[in-house]
Amino acid sequence: MVAASLPVSTALATHPPLTDSYGRVIHDLRVSITDRCNYKCVYCRTGEAGAQYPELKSDEYLRLIGLFVSLGITKVRLTGGEPLLRRGVVELVAELARMRTPEGEPLVLALTTNGHLLESLAGPLKQAGLNRVTVSMDAVDAVAFERITRVNDSFPVVLRGIRAARAAGLTPLKVNCVLLRGFNDDQIEGFARFAREEDVVVRFIEFMPLEEGRLWSPEIVVTLKEIIDRIGRTMPLVELPAREASETARRYGFGDGVGEIGIIAPVSQAFCGACSRVRLTSDGKIRTCLFSQVEHDLYGRLRAGAGDEELRTYIVRTIQGKEARHHIGEPGFLKPSRSMVHIGG
Ligand code: SAM
Repeated sequence: MVAASLPVSTALATHPPLTDSYGRVIHDLRVSITDRCNYKCVYCRTGEAGAQYPELKSDEYLRLIGLFVSLGITKVRLTGGEPLLRRGVVELVAELARMRTPEGEPLVLALTTNGHLLESLAGPLKQAGLNRVTVSMDAVDAVAFERITRVNDSFPVVLRGIRAARAAGLTPLKVNCVLLRGFNDDQIEGFARFAREEDVVVRFIEFMPLEEGRLWSPEIVVTLKEIIDRIGRTMPLVELPAREASETARRYGFGDGVGEIGIIAPVSQAFCGACSRVRLTSDGKIRTCLFSQVEHDLYGRLRAGAGDEELRTYIVRTIQGKEARHHIGEPGFLKPSRSMVHIGG
């Protein structure tokens, strides 16, 4: 595999920083490396649709990511689909770990996974240069977990994956849980205990209208306030300061100082004003917002023979057009054409 060559200093000299028209600096790139998934989480997928979009070759992802990095991206998160299904994921991470920002710094490399294949891959990924991993997990009760993932015996497998990631030093380890009212909101207190017992940062995420089916309604969203109130009834919480302006999660510690939880509230307390993200889909399209109605075919231009300079100009122009905010819950809201699993969460 050949890493993208990065004439980063020349790029900086000829391009302004990667900023959108609202002055937000974009430094975080999420790259889906497959839209295949080995789970069929009931709130995400209908159970019928499989992969829908092609994947690029690893060299092509590297070339495209290299262009973003030359323009100011400092953090890359691999996602999917399920990124650990992608053949060559460890080698891809190793190549990314060799990239440098225009300032000569290594990238912050993260990965979001359902954890099913993590037990054996955590060590090799860490060795390859991965810094952080986020594991998605929507119940701490094995029966509820299997009902959600629609995969038998998935809970102990993911638990072993989480423990392997922690042992490999992929810390602080985050565990993300999407909450749906009447469905898995009975897991909230269990997750709070899990955060303390397993030494992981559990982050609850409000459910967004990004599912393959039609499940979303304002009533099904369990809001930040509700979660805090519920945990606070049995375990006092203290709000912790944000580490950076673009941090998506509101952070809370437990009264006795042991453990941390976070709440990501894109619906009830949208954080679009501080958004620093842009996405690349598995088939090489730029999405400037999860809820974008249009995609920008970066890979199509690469295939048509565009050179690095032309592609950089296209990226800069595309990011200039990043949406001000999403419109979840507003009259006339339109779901994007792709669901979460096909965008890359
Ligand atoms: N397979 C990987 C995983 O499970 O983490 C990466 C892809 S998955 C689509 C990324 C994250 O998106 C998961 O945490 C999942 O729970 C979350 N997600 C899926 N649909 C969502 C929705 N409608 N609203 C909020 N989060 C969602």
